[in-house]
Amino acid sequence: MKKNLTACFFVLILSLFVTLEASAGSTTRLGGQDRFDVAINVSKSGWPSASTVVLANWEAFGDALAATPLAYKYNAPMLLTKPGALTPRTKEEIKRLRAKNVIIVGGTISVSNTIVNELKAMGISVKRIAGNSRMEVANNISKELGASSKVVIADGFNFPDALSIAPYAARNGYPILLTNNKHNLEQSTQNLINSRNISQTIISGGPLSVSDTVYKSVPNPRRFGGNSRYEVSANIANAYFSSRSNAFVTKGTIFADALTGSVLAAKRNAPILLIESNSIPKPIKSSIANNEFTNFTILGGPISVSESINNMLKKKIVGQTIVIDPGHGGKDPGASGNGLVEKEIVLDVSKRVNSKLFNSLAKVVMTRESDTYPTLEARVNQAEKSGADMFVSIHVNSFTSGAASGTETWYDSTYAAAASKELAEEIQKELVKALGTNDRGVKEGGFYVVKHTKMPSVLVELAFISNSSDADKLASNTYRQKAADAIYRGIMNYYN
Ligand SMILES: [Zn+2]
Repeated sequence: MKKNLTACFFVLILSLFVTLEASAGSTTRLGGQDRFDVAINVSKSGWPSASTVVLANWEAFGDALAATPLAYKYNAPMLLTKPGALTPRTKEEIKRLRAKNVIIVGGTISVSNTIVNELKAMGISVKRIAGNSRMEVANNISKELGASSKVVIADGFNFPDALSIAPYAARNGYPILLTNNKHNLEQSTQNLINSRNISQTIISGGPLSVSDTVYKSVPNPRRFGGNSRYEVSANIANAYFSSRSNAFVTKGTIFADALTGSVLAAKRNAPILLIESNSIPKPIKSSIANNEFTNFTILGGPISVSESINNMLKKKIVGQTIVIDPGHGGKDPGASGNGLVEKEIVLDVSKRVNSKLFNSLAKVVMTRESDTYPTLEARVNQAEKSGADMFVSIHVNSFTSGAASGTETWYDSTYAAAASKELAEEIQKELVKALGTNDRGVKEGGFYVVKHTKMPSVLVELAFISNSSDADKLASNTYRQKAADAIYRGIMNYYN
């Protein structure tokens, strides 16, 4: 009896732990040796079985670019093959799925008739959707999809924009139509659009991908542009997936993983975010932070999306909303001494903290970004309104004589006392270590902004502006960066 009780208690604690974990960043990698494996692992992850499979050539993205909405319609995973014979691993996966139908996208050069015969010998019925060009393949896929009130247009000769819009297009049954090499629409594509009662044309990509001529020739266009494939991807996620917690990430310069992953992304109502192997481009960082994406499916092995990206996406800080409050500002200069003014120092350090946190995929809210004065009440309201998870106010200290020196961090026990104290301790420890200042410790007191904010909140006094040795550090860019790094590390320690 006692043993059972202990077991129950353990389960309870465990489930609590799991619940808490779910709010932090989590990742699942669907990787593999190569693109065949990635496609198979995506299929295994999303489909215990499937009556239909979409099969495409492993290299020719043109044919398959428009296939995601079709695959989604039939709840079919997308698998890849070499053209001459059915790739053995793919064949095994088709068997595992107990598929009855295979839809081949592309002509016999992409997927040969030998493969058709192989599939038929497995008792599978095969349908091929082909065309004289990728544009025609896309048109033929759209006919298979059936009527829709909207269509998507993307560059047929560059894959990223089409794949970024694919999950959204798929979920809504919108066909993806492609432009030709001259960035014009083929007559057959134009005819297809004209034949339908289209209420909106979604254009994925800027004018260099889908020309303004095309834009002007289609009904009620809405363009998702951007300076890069990453920005286009971010803009689509921001527009259509803003209230989701799941996102798929994949390398933006290879098509295969994004293509085969896009059907699963559609099933899970998640955007595809394009990134680089070892870094997350700025627009994607903003998108992750602002949309508070916290559960990530990584498409591709560690060569495509590195382990360091995987580790970064797992961190608890991902998607957290952190308010940085540079003290004073505008009409209120704060303390001054040794030729320095508090409001300037704390704004500079705050901006440096902001940039560190942004790079860690936190959503940062600054109570001021220039020399303005929001009231203390306004700062607290801003924190509450933004649903902040943490509030850090940054100040420098002053005394009537030059004798007092050092660093101290304050918290208040009105709300979130224990968490605030812990945060204060982590930041204080790092600041003293980094700045080499006198450790004045963590203190409890009712400064307005830490007293009235309900989330864990602290107020740091970096050093004394009135002490010449401290002031030298406050004047130095190197030390300001050290201070910002230390506050950042304190926040990271707190989350870990
Ligand atoms: Zn101050």
